[in-house]
Amino acid sequence: MSAAVIDGKAFAAGLRARVAVAAAAFEQAAGRKAGLAVVLVGSDPASQVYVASKARQTVECGMASFEFTLPEDASQAELLAIIDRLNADASVDGILVQLPLPKHLDEQEVVARISPDKDVDGLTPISTGRLALGQPGLVPCTPLGSLMLLKDRVGDLSGLNAVVIGRSILVGKPMAQLLLGENCTVTVAHSHTRDLPAVVRGADIVVAAVGRPEMVQGDWIKPGATVIDVGINRLPPAEGQTKGRLVGDVAYAEALEVAGAITPVPGGVGPMTIAVLLRNALVAAHRNAGVALADGAL
Ligand code: NDP
Repeated sequence: MSAAVIDGKAFAAGLRARVAVAAAAFEQAAGRKAGLAVVLVGSDPASQVYVASKARQTVECGMASFEFTLPEDASQAELLAIIDRLNADASVDGILVQLPLPKHLDEQEVVARISPDKDVDGLTPISTGRLALGQPGLVPCTPLGSLMLLKDRVGDLSGLNAVVIGRSILVGKPMAQLLLGENCTVTVAHSHTRDLPAVVRGADIVVAAVGRPEMVQGDWIKPGATVIDVGINRLPPAEGQTKGRLVGDVAYAEALEVAGAITPVPGGVGPMTIAVLLRNALVAAHRNAGVALADGAL
């Protein structure tokens, strides 16, 4: 038996199309475009590419994109001043600070300064608290995108055993909260977990967010389980190649033989992250402008 492959690229394209329709309706209702601001400090090439891609997709979806680039040696005060300005700017609905920041900056203070109403990355203490309390709020993009793929595939998750491998603020912890919110029985595994294979074998849903290439073996997976592979790892280049292959945290070929459904890497969770960012920005815009968003529109 071979698992169904969950096509995150296609799902993300569908989500972006729904965002574009809702963004046009928002513009009509609010008399302005929804706006997303991205702040980048420094000139890390990967971050520059990522920010450019966010900006392009924001505009393609019919929203306004505002980009701010600060030099590598920008001070904490300069960065906080930009965030204060964006918090106060009514044309900006979402603020994203590209992480990681250069080492001399206090990332926690910077993130906490973002207004929770504009926190499209869902990483402020208020957003984190709202998620834990089950209150409406903005949720980190990668775990929310993973949950969308899961629900699209499985439907009702209630009562299923879910194992999340990884407990980061960005992925593992919010993923566990989202699954609890769907009435799963959730186990969060991490680097101190004893007998991880046995823990994973009990799971109907496995979410791997570790950052270790192909760590989760095929024989750890319960037959028929749904596997969401968040990991993005680049292997060393093969002989004669300049770039290594991208792989996830799950041994894909092995898992494909056992799982009921699985996300590939690339093309699974990865494409969901920016699509959900755009979705979050538009949800924030509706709340900020007091415009109702039709149920199920996004
Ligand atoms: P972090 O490094 O912040 O967290 C990794 C987690 O994995 C930690 O909780 C760590 O445990 C746990 N871990 C490490 N080794 C083991 C092990 N041997 N067994 C069990 N658990 C282990 O990573 P992120 O959460 O930020 O990212 C995880 C992966 O997801 C990365 O590959 C990253 O590139 C990818 N990613 C992909 C995104 C996308 O858009 N698709 C977005 C964000 C991330 P402990 O807490 O004990 O140290």
